[in-house]
Amino acid sequence: MGNFDEHLSAGKKYALAAIIISSIITYQLGLSTDNIILTAIVAAGFGLLTSLLPDIDHQDSKPRQAVGKYASIAIIGAVLLLPAMAPDFVDSVGRLVWVAGVSGDPSVLGSGVILIGGVAAIVFGGDLFDNSTTHRGFTHSFAFVFFVGIASYFALGLLMGVFPQLHFLSGEAGVVVALVAAGGIFVHLSVDGIV
Ligand SMILES: [Zn+2]
Repeated sequence: MGNFDEHLSAGKKYALAAIIISSIITYQLGLSTDNIILTAIVAAGFGLLTSLLPDIDHQDSKPRQAVGKYASIAIIGAVLLLPAMAPDFVDSVGRLVWVAGVSGDPSVLGSGVILIGGVAAIVFGGDLFDNSTTHRGFTHSFAFVFFVGIASYFALGLLMGVFPQLHFLSGEAGVVVALVAAGGIFVHLSVDGIV
């Protein structure tokens, strides 16, 4: 188990990595220099924040099986509802796959990636949940990684409401930020020795 200082120091290193990685990706996507810098700042902020986030469940004593069951249902719901409720998000995920060299219809590719991610979160998340030697719950699971990725993308919508100059984050750059945010949970789990 990492203490707060260990998580903070890992989070700072991760934020630095997020600046570099997000800049490379947004440069590949052809964003303007201003937007590359803004994406890097937002990604670093989200990454630092999410690397600290899982310990909000410090006193959580809910039975793990029940939490795991609801998490699985919620993931299946998200996979089914996202293409209908957030088509831009799904398309953006699909266009990001283009960067990796795969071509195809963005909404189909995006749905595929989200489906694979959701299934992986349920399959591996359940194992991780049970094998984990910690009594900590949902916020220290793979399922939470998935949730934070989705939730961060919607949180960006709120941020864009406050800072209209960030509006470009409704596209692929926003998905990059969401991925960095999800990665922050991984960083936290690795400091805790769970992954
Ligand atoms: Zn923790």
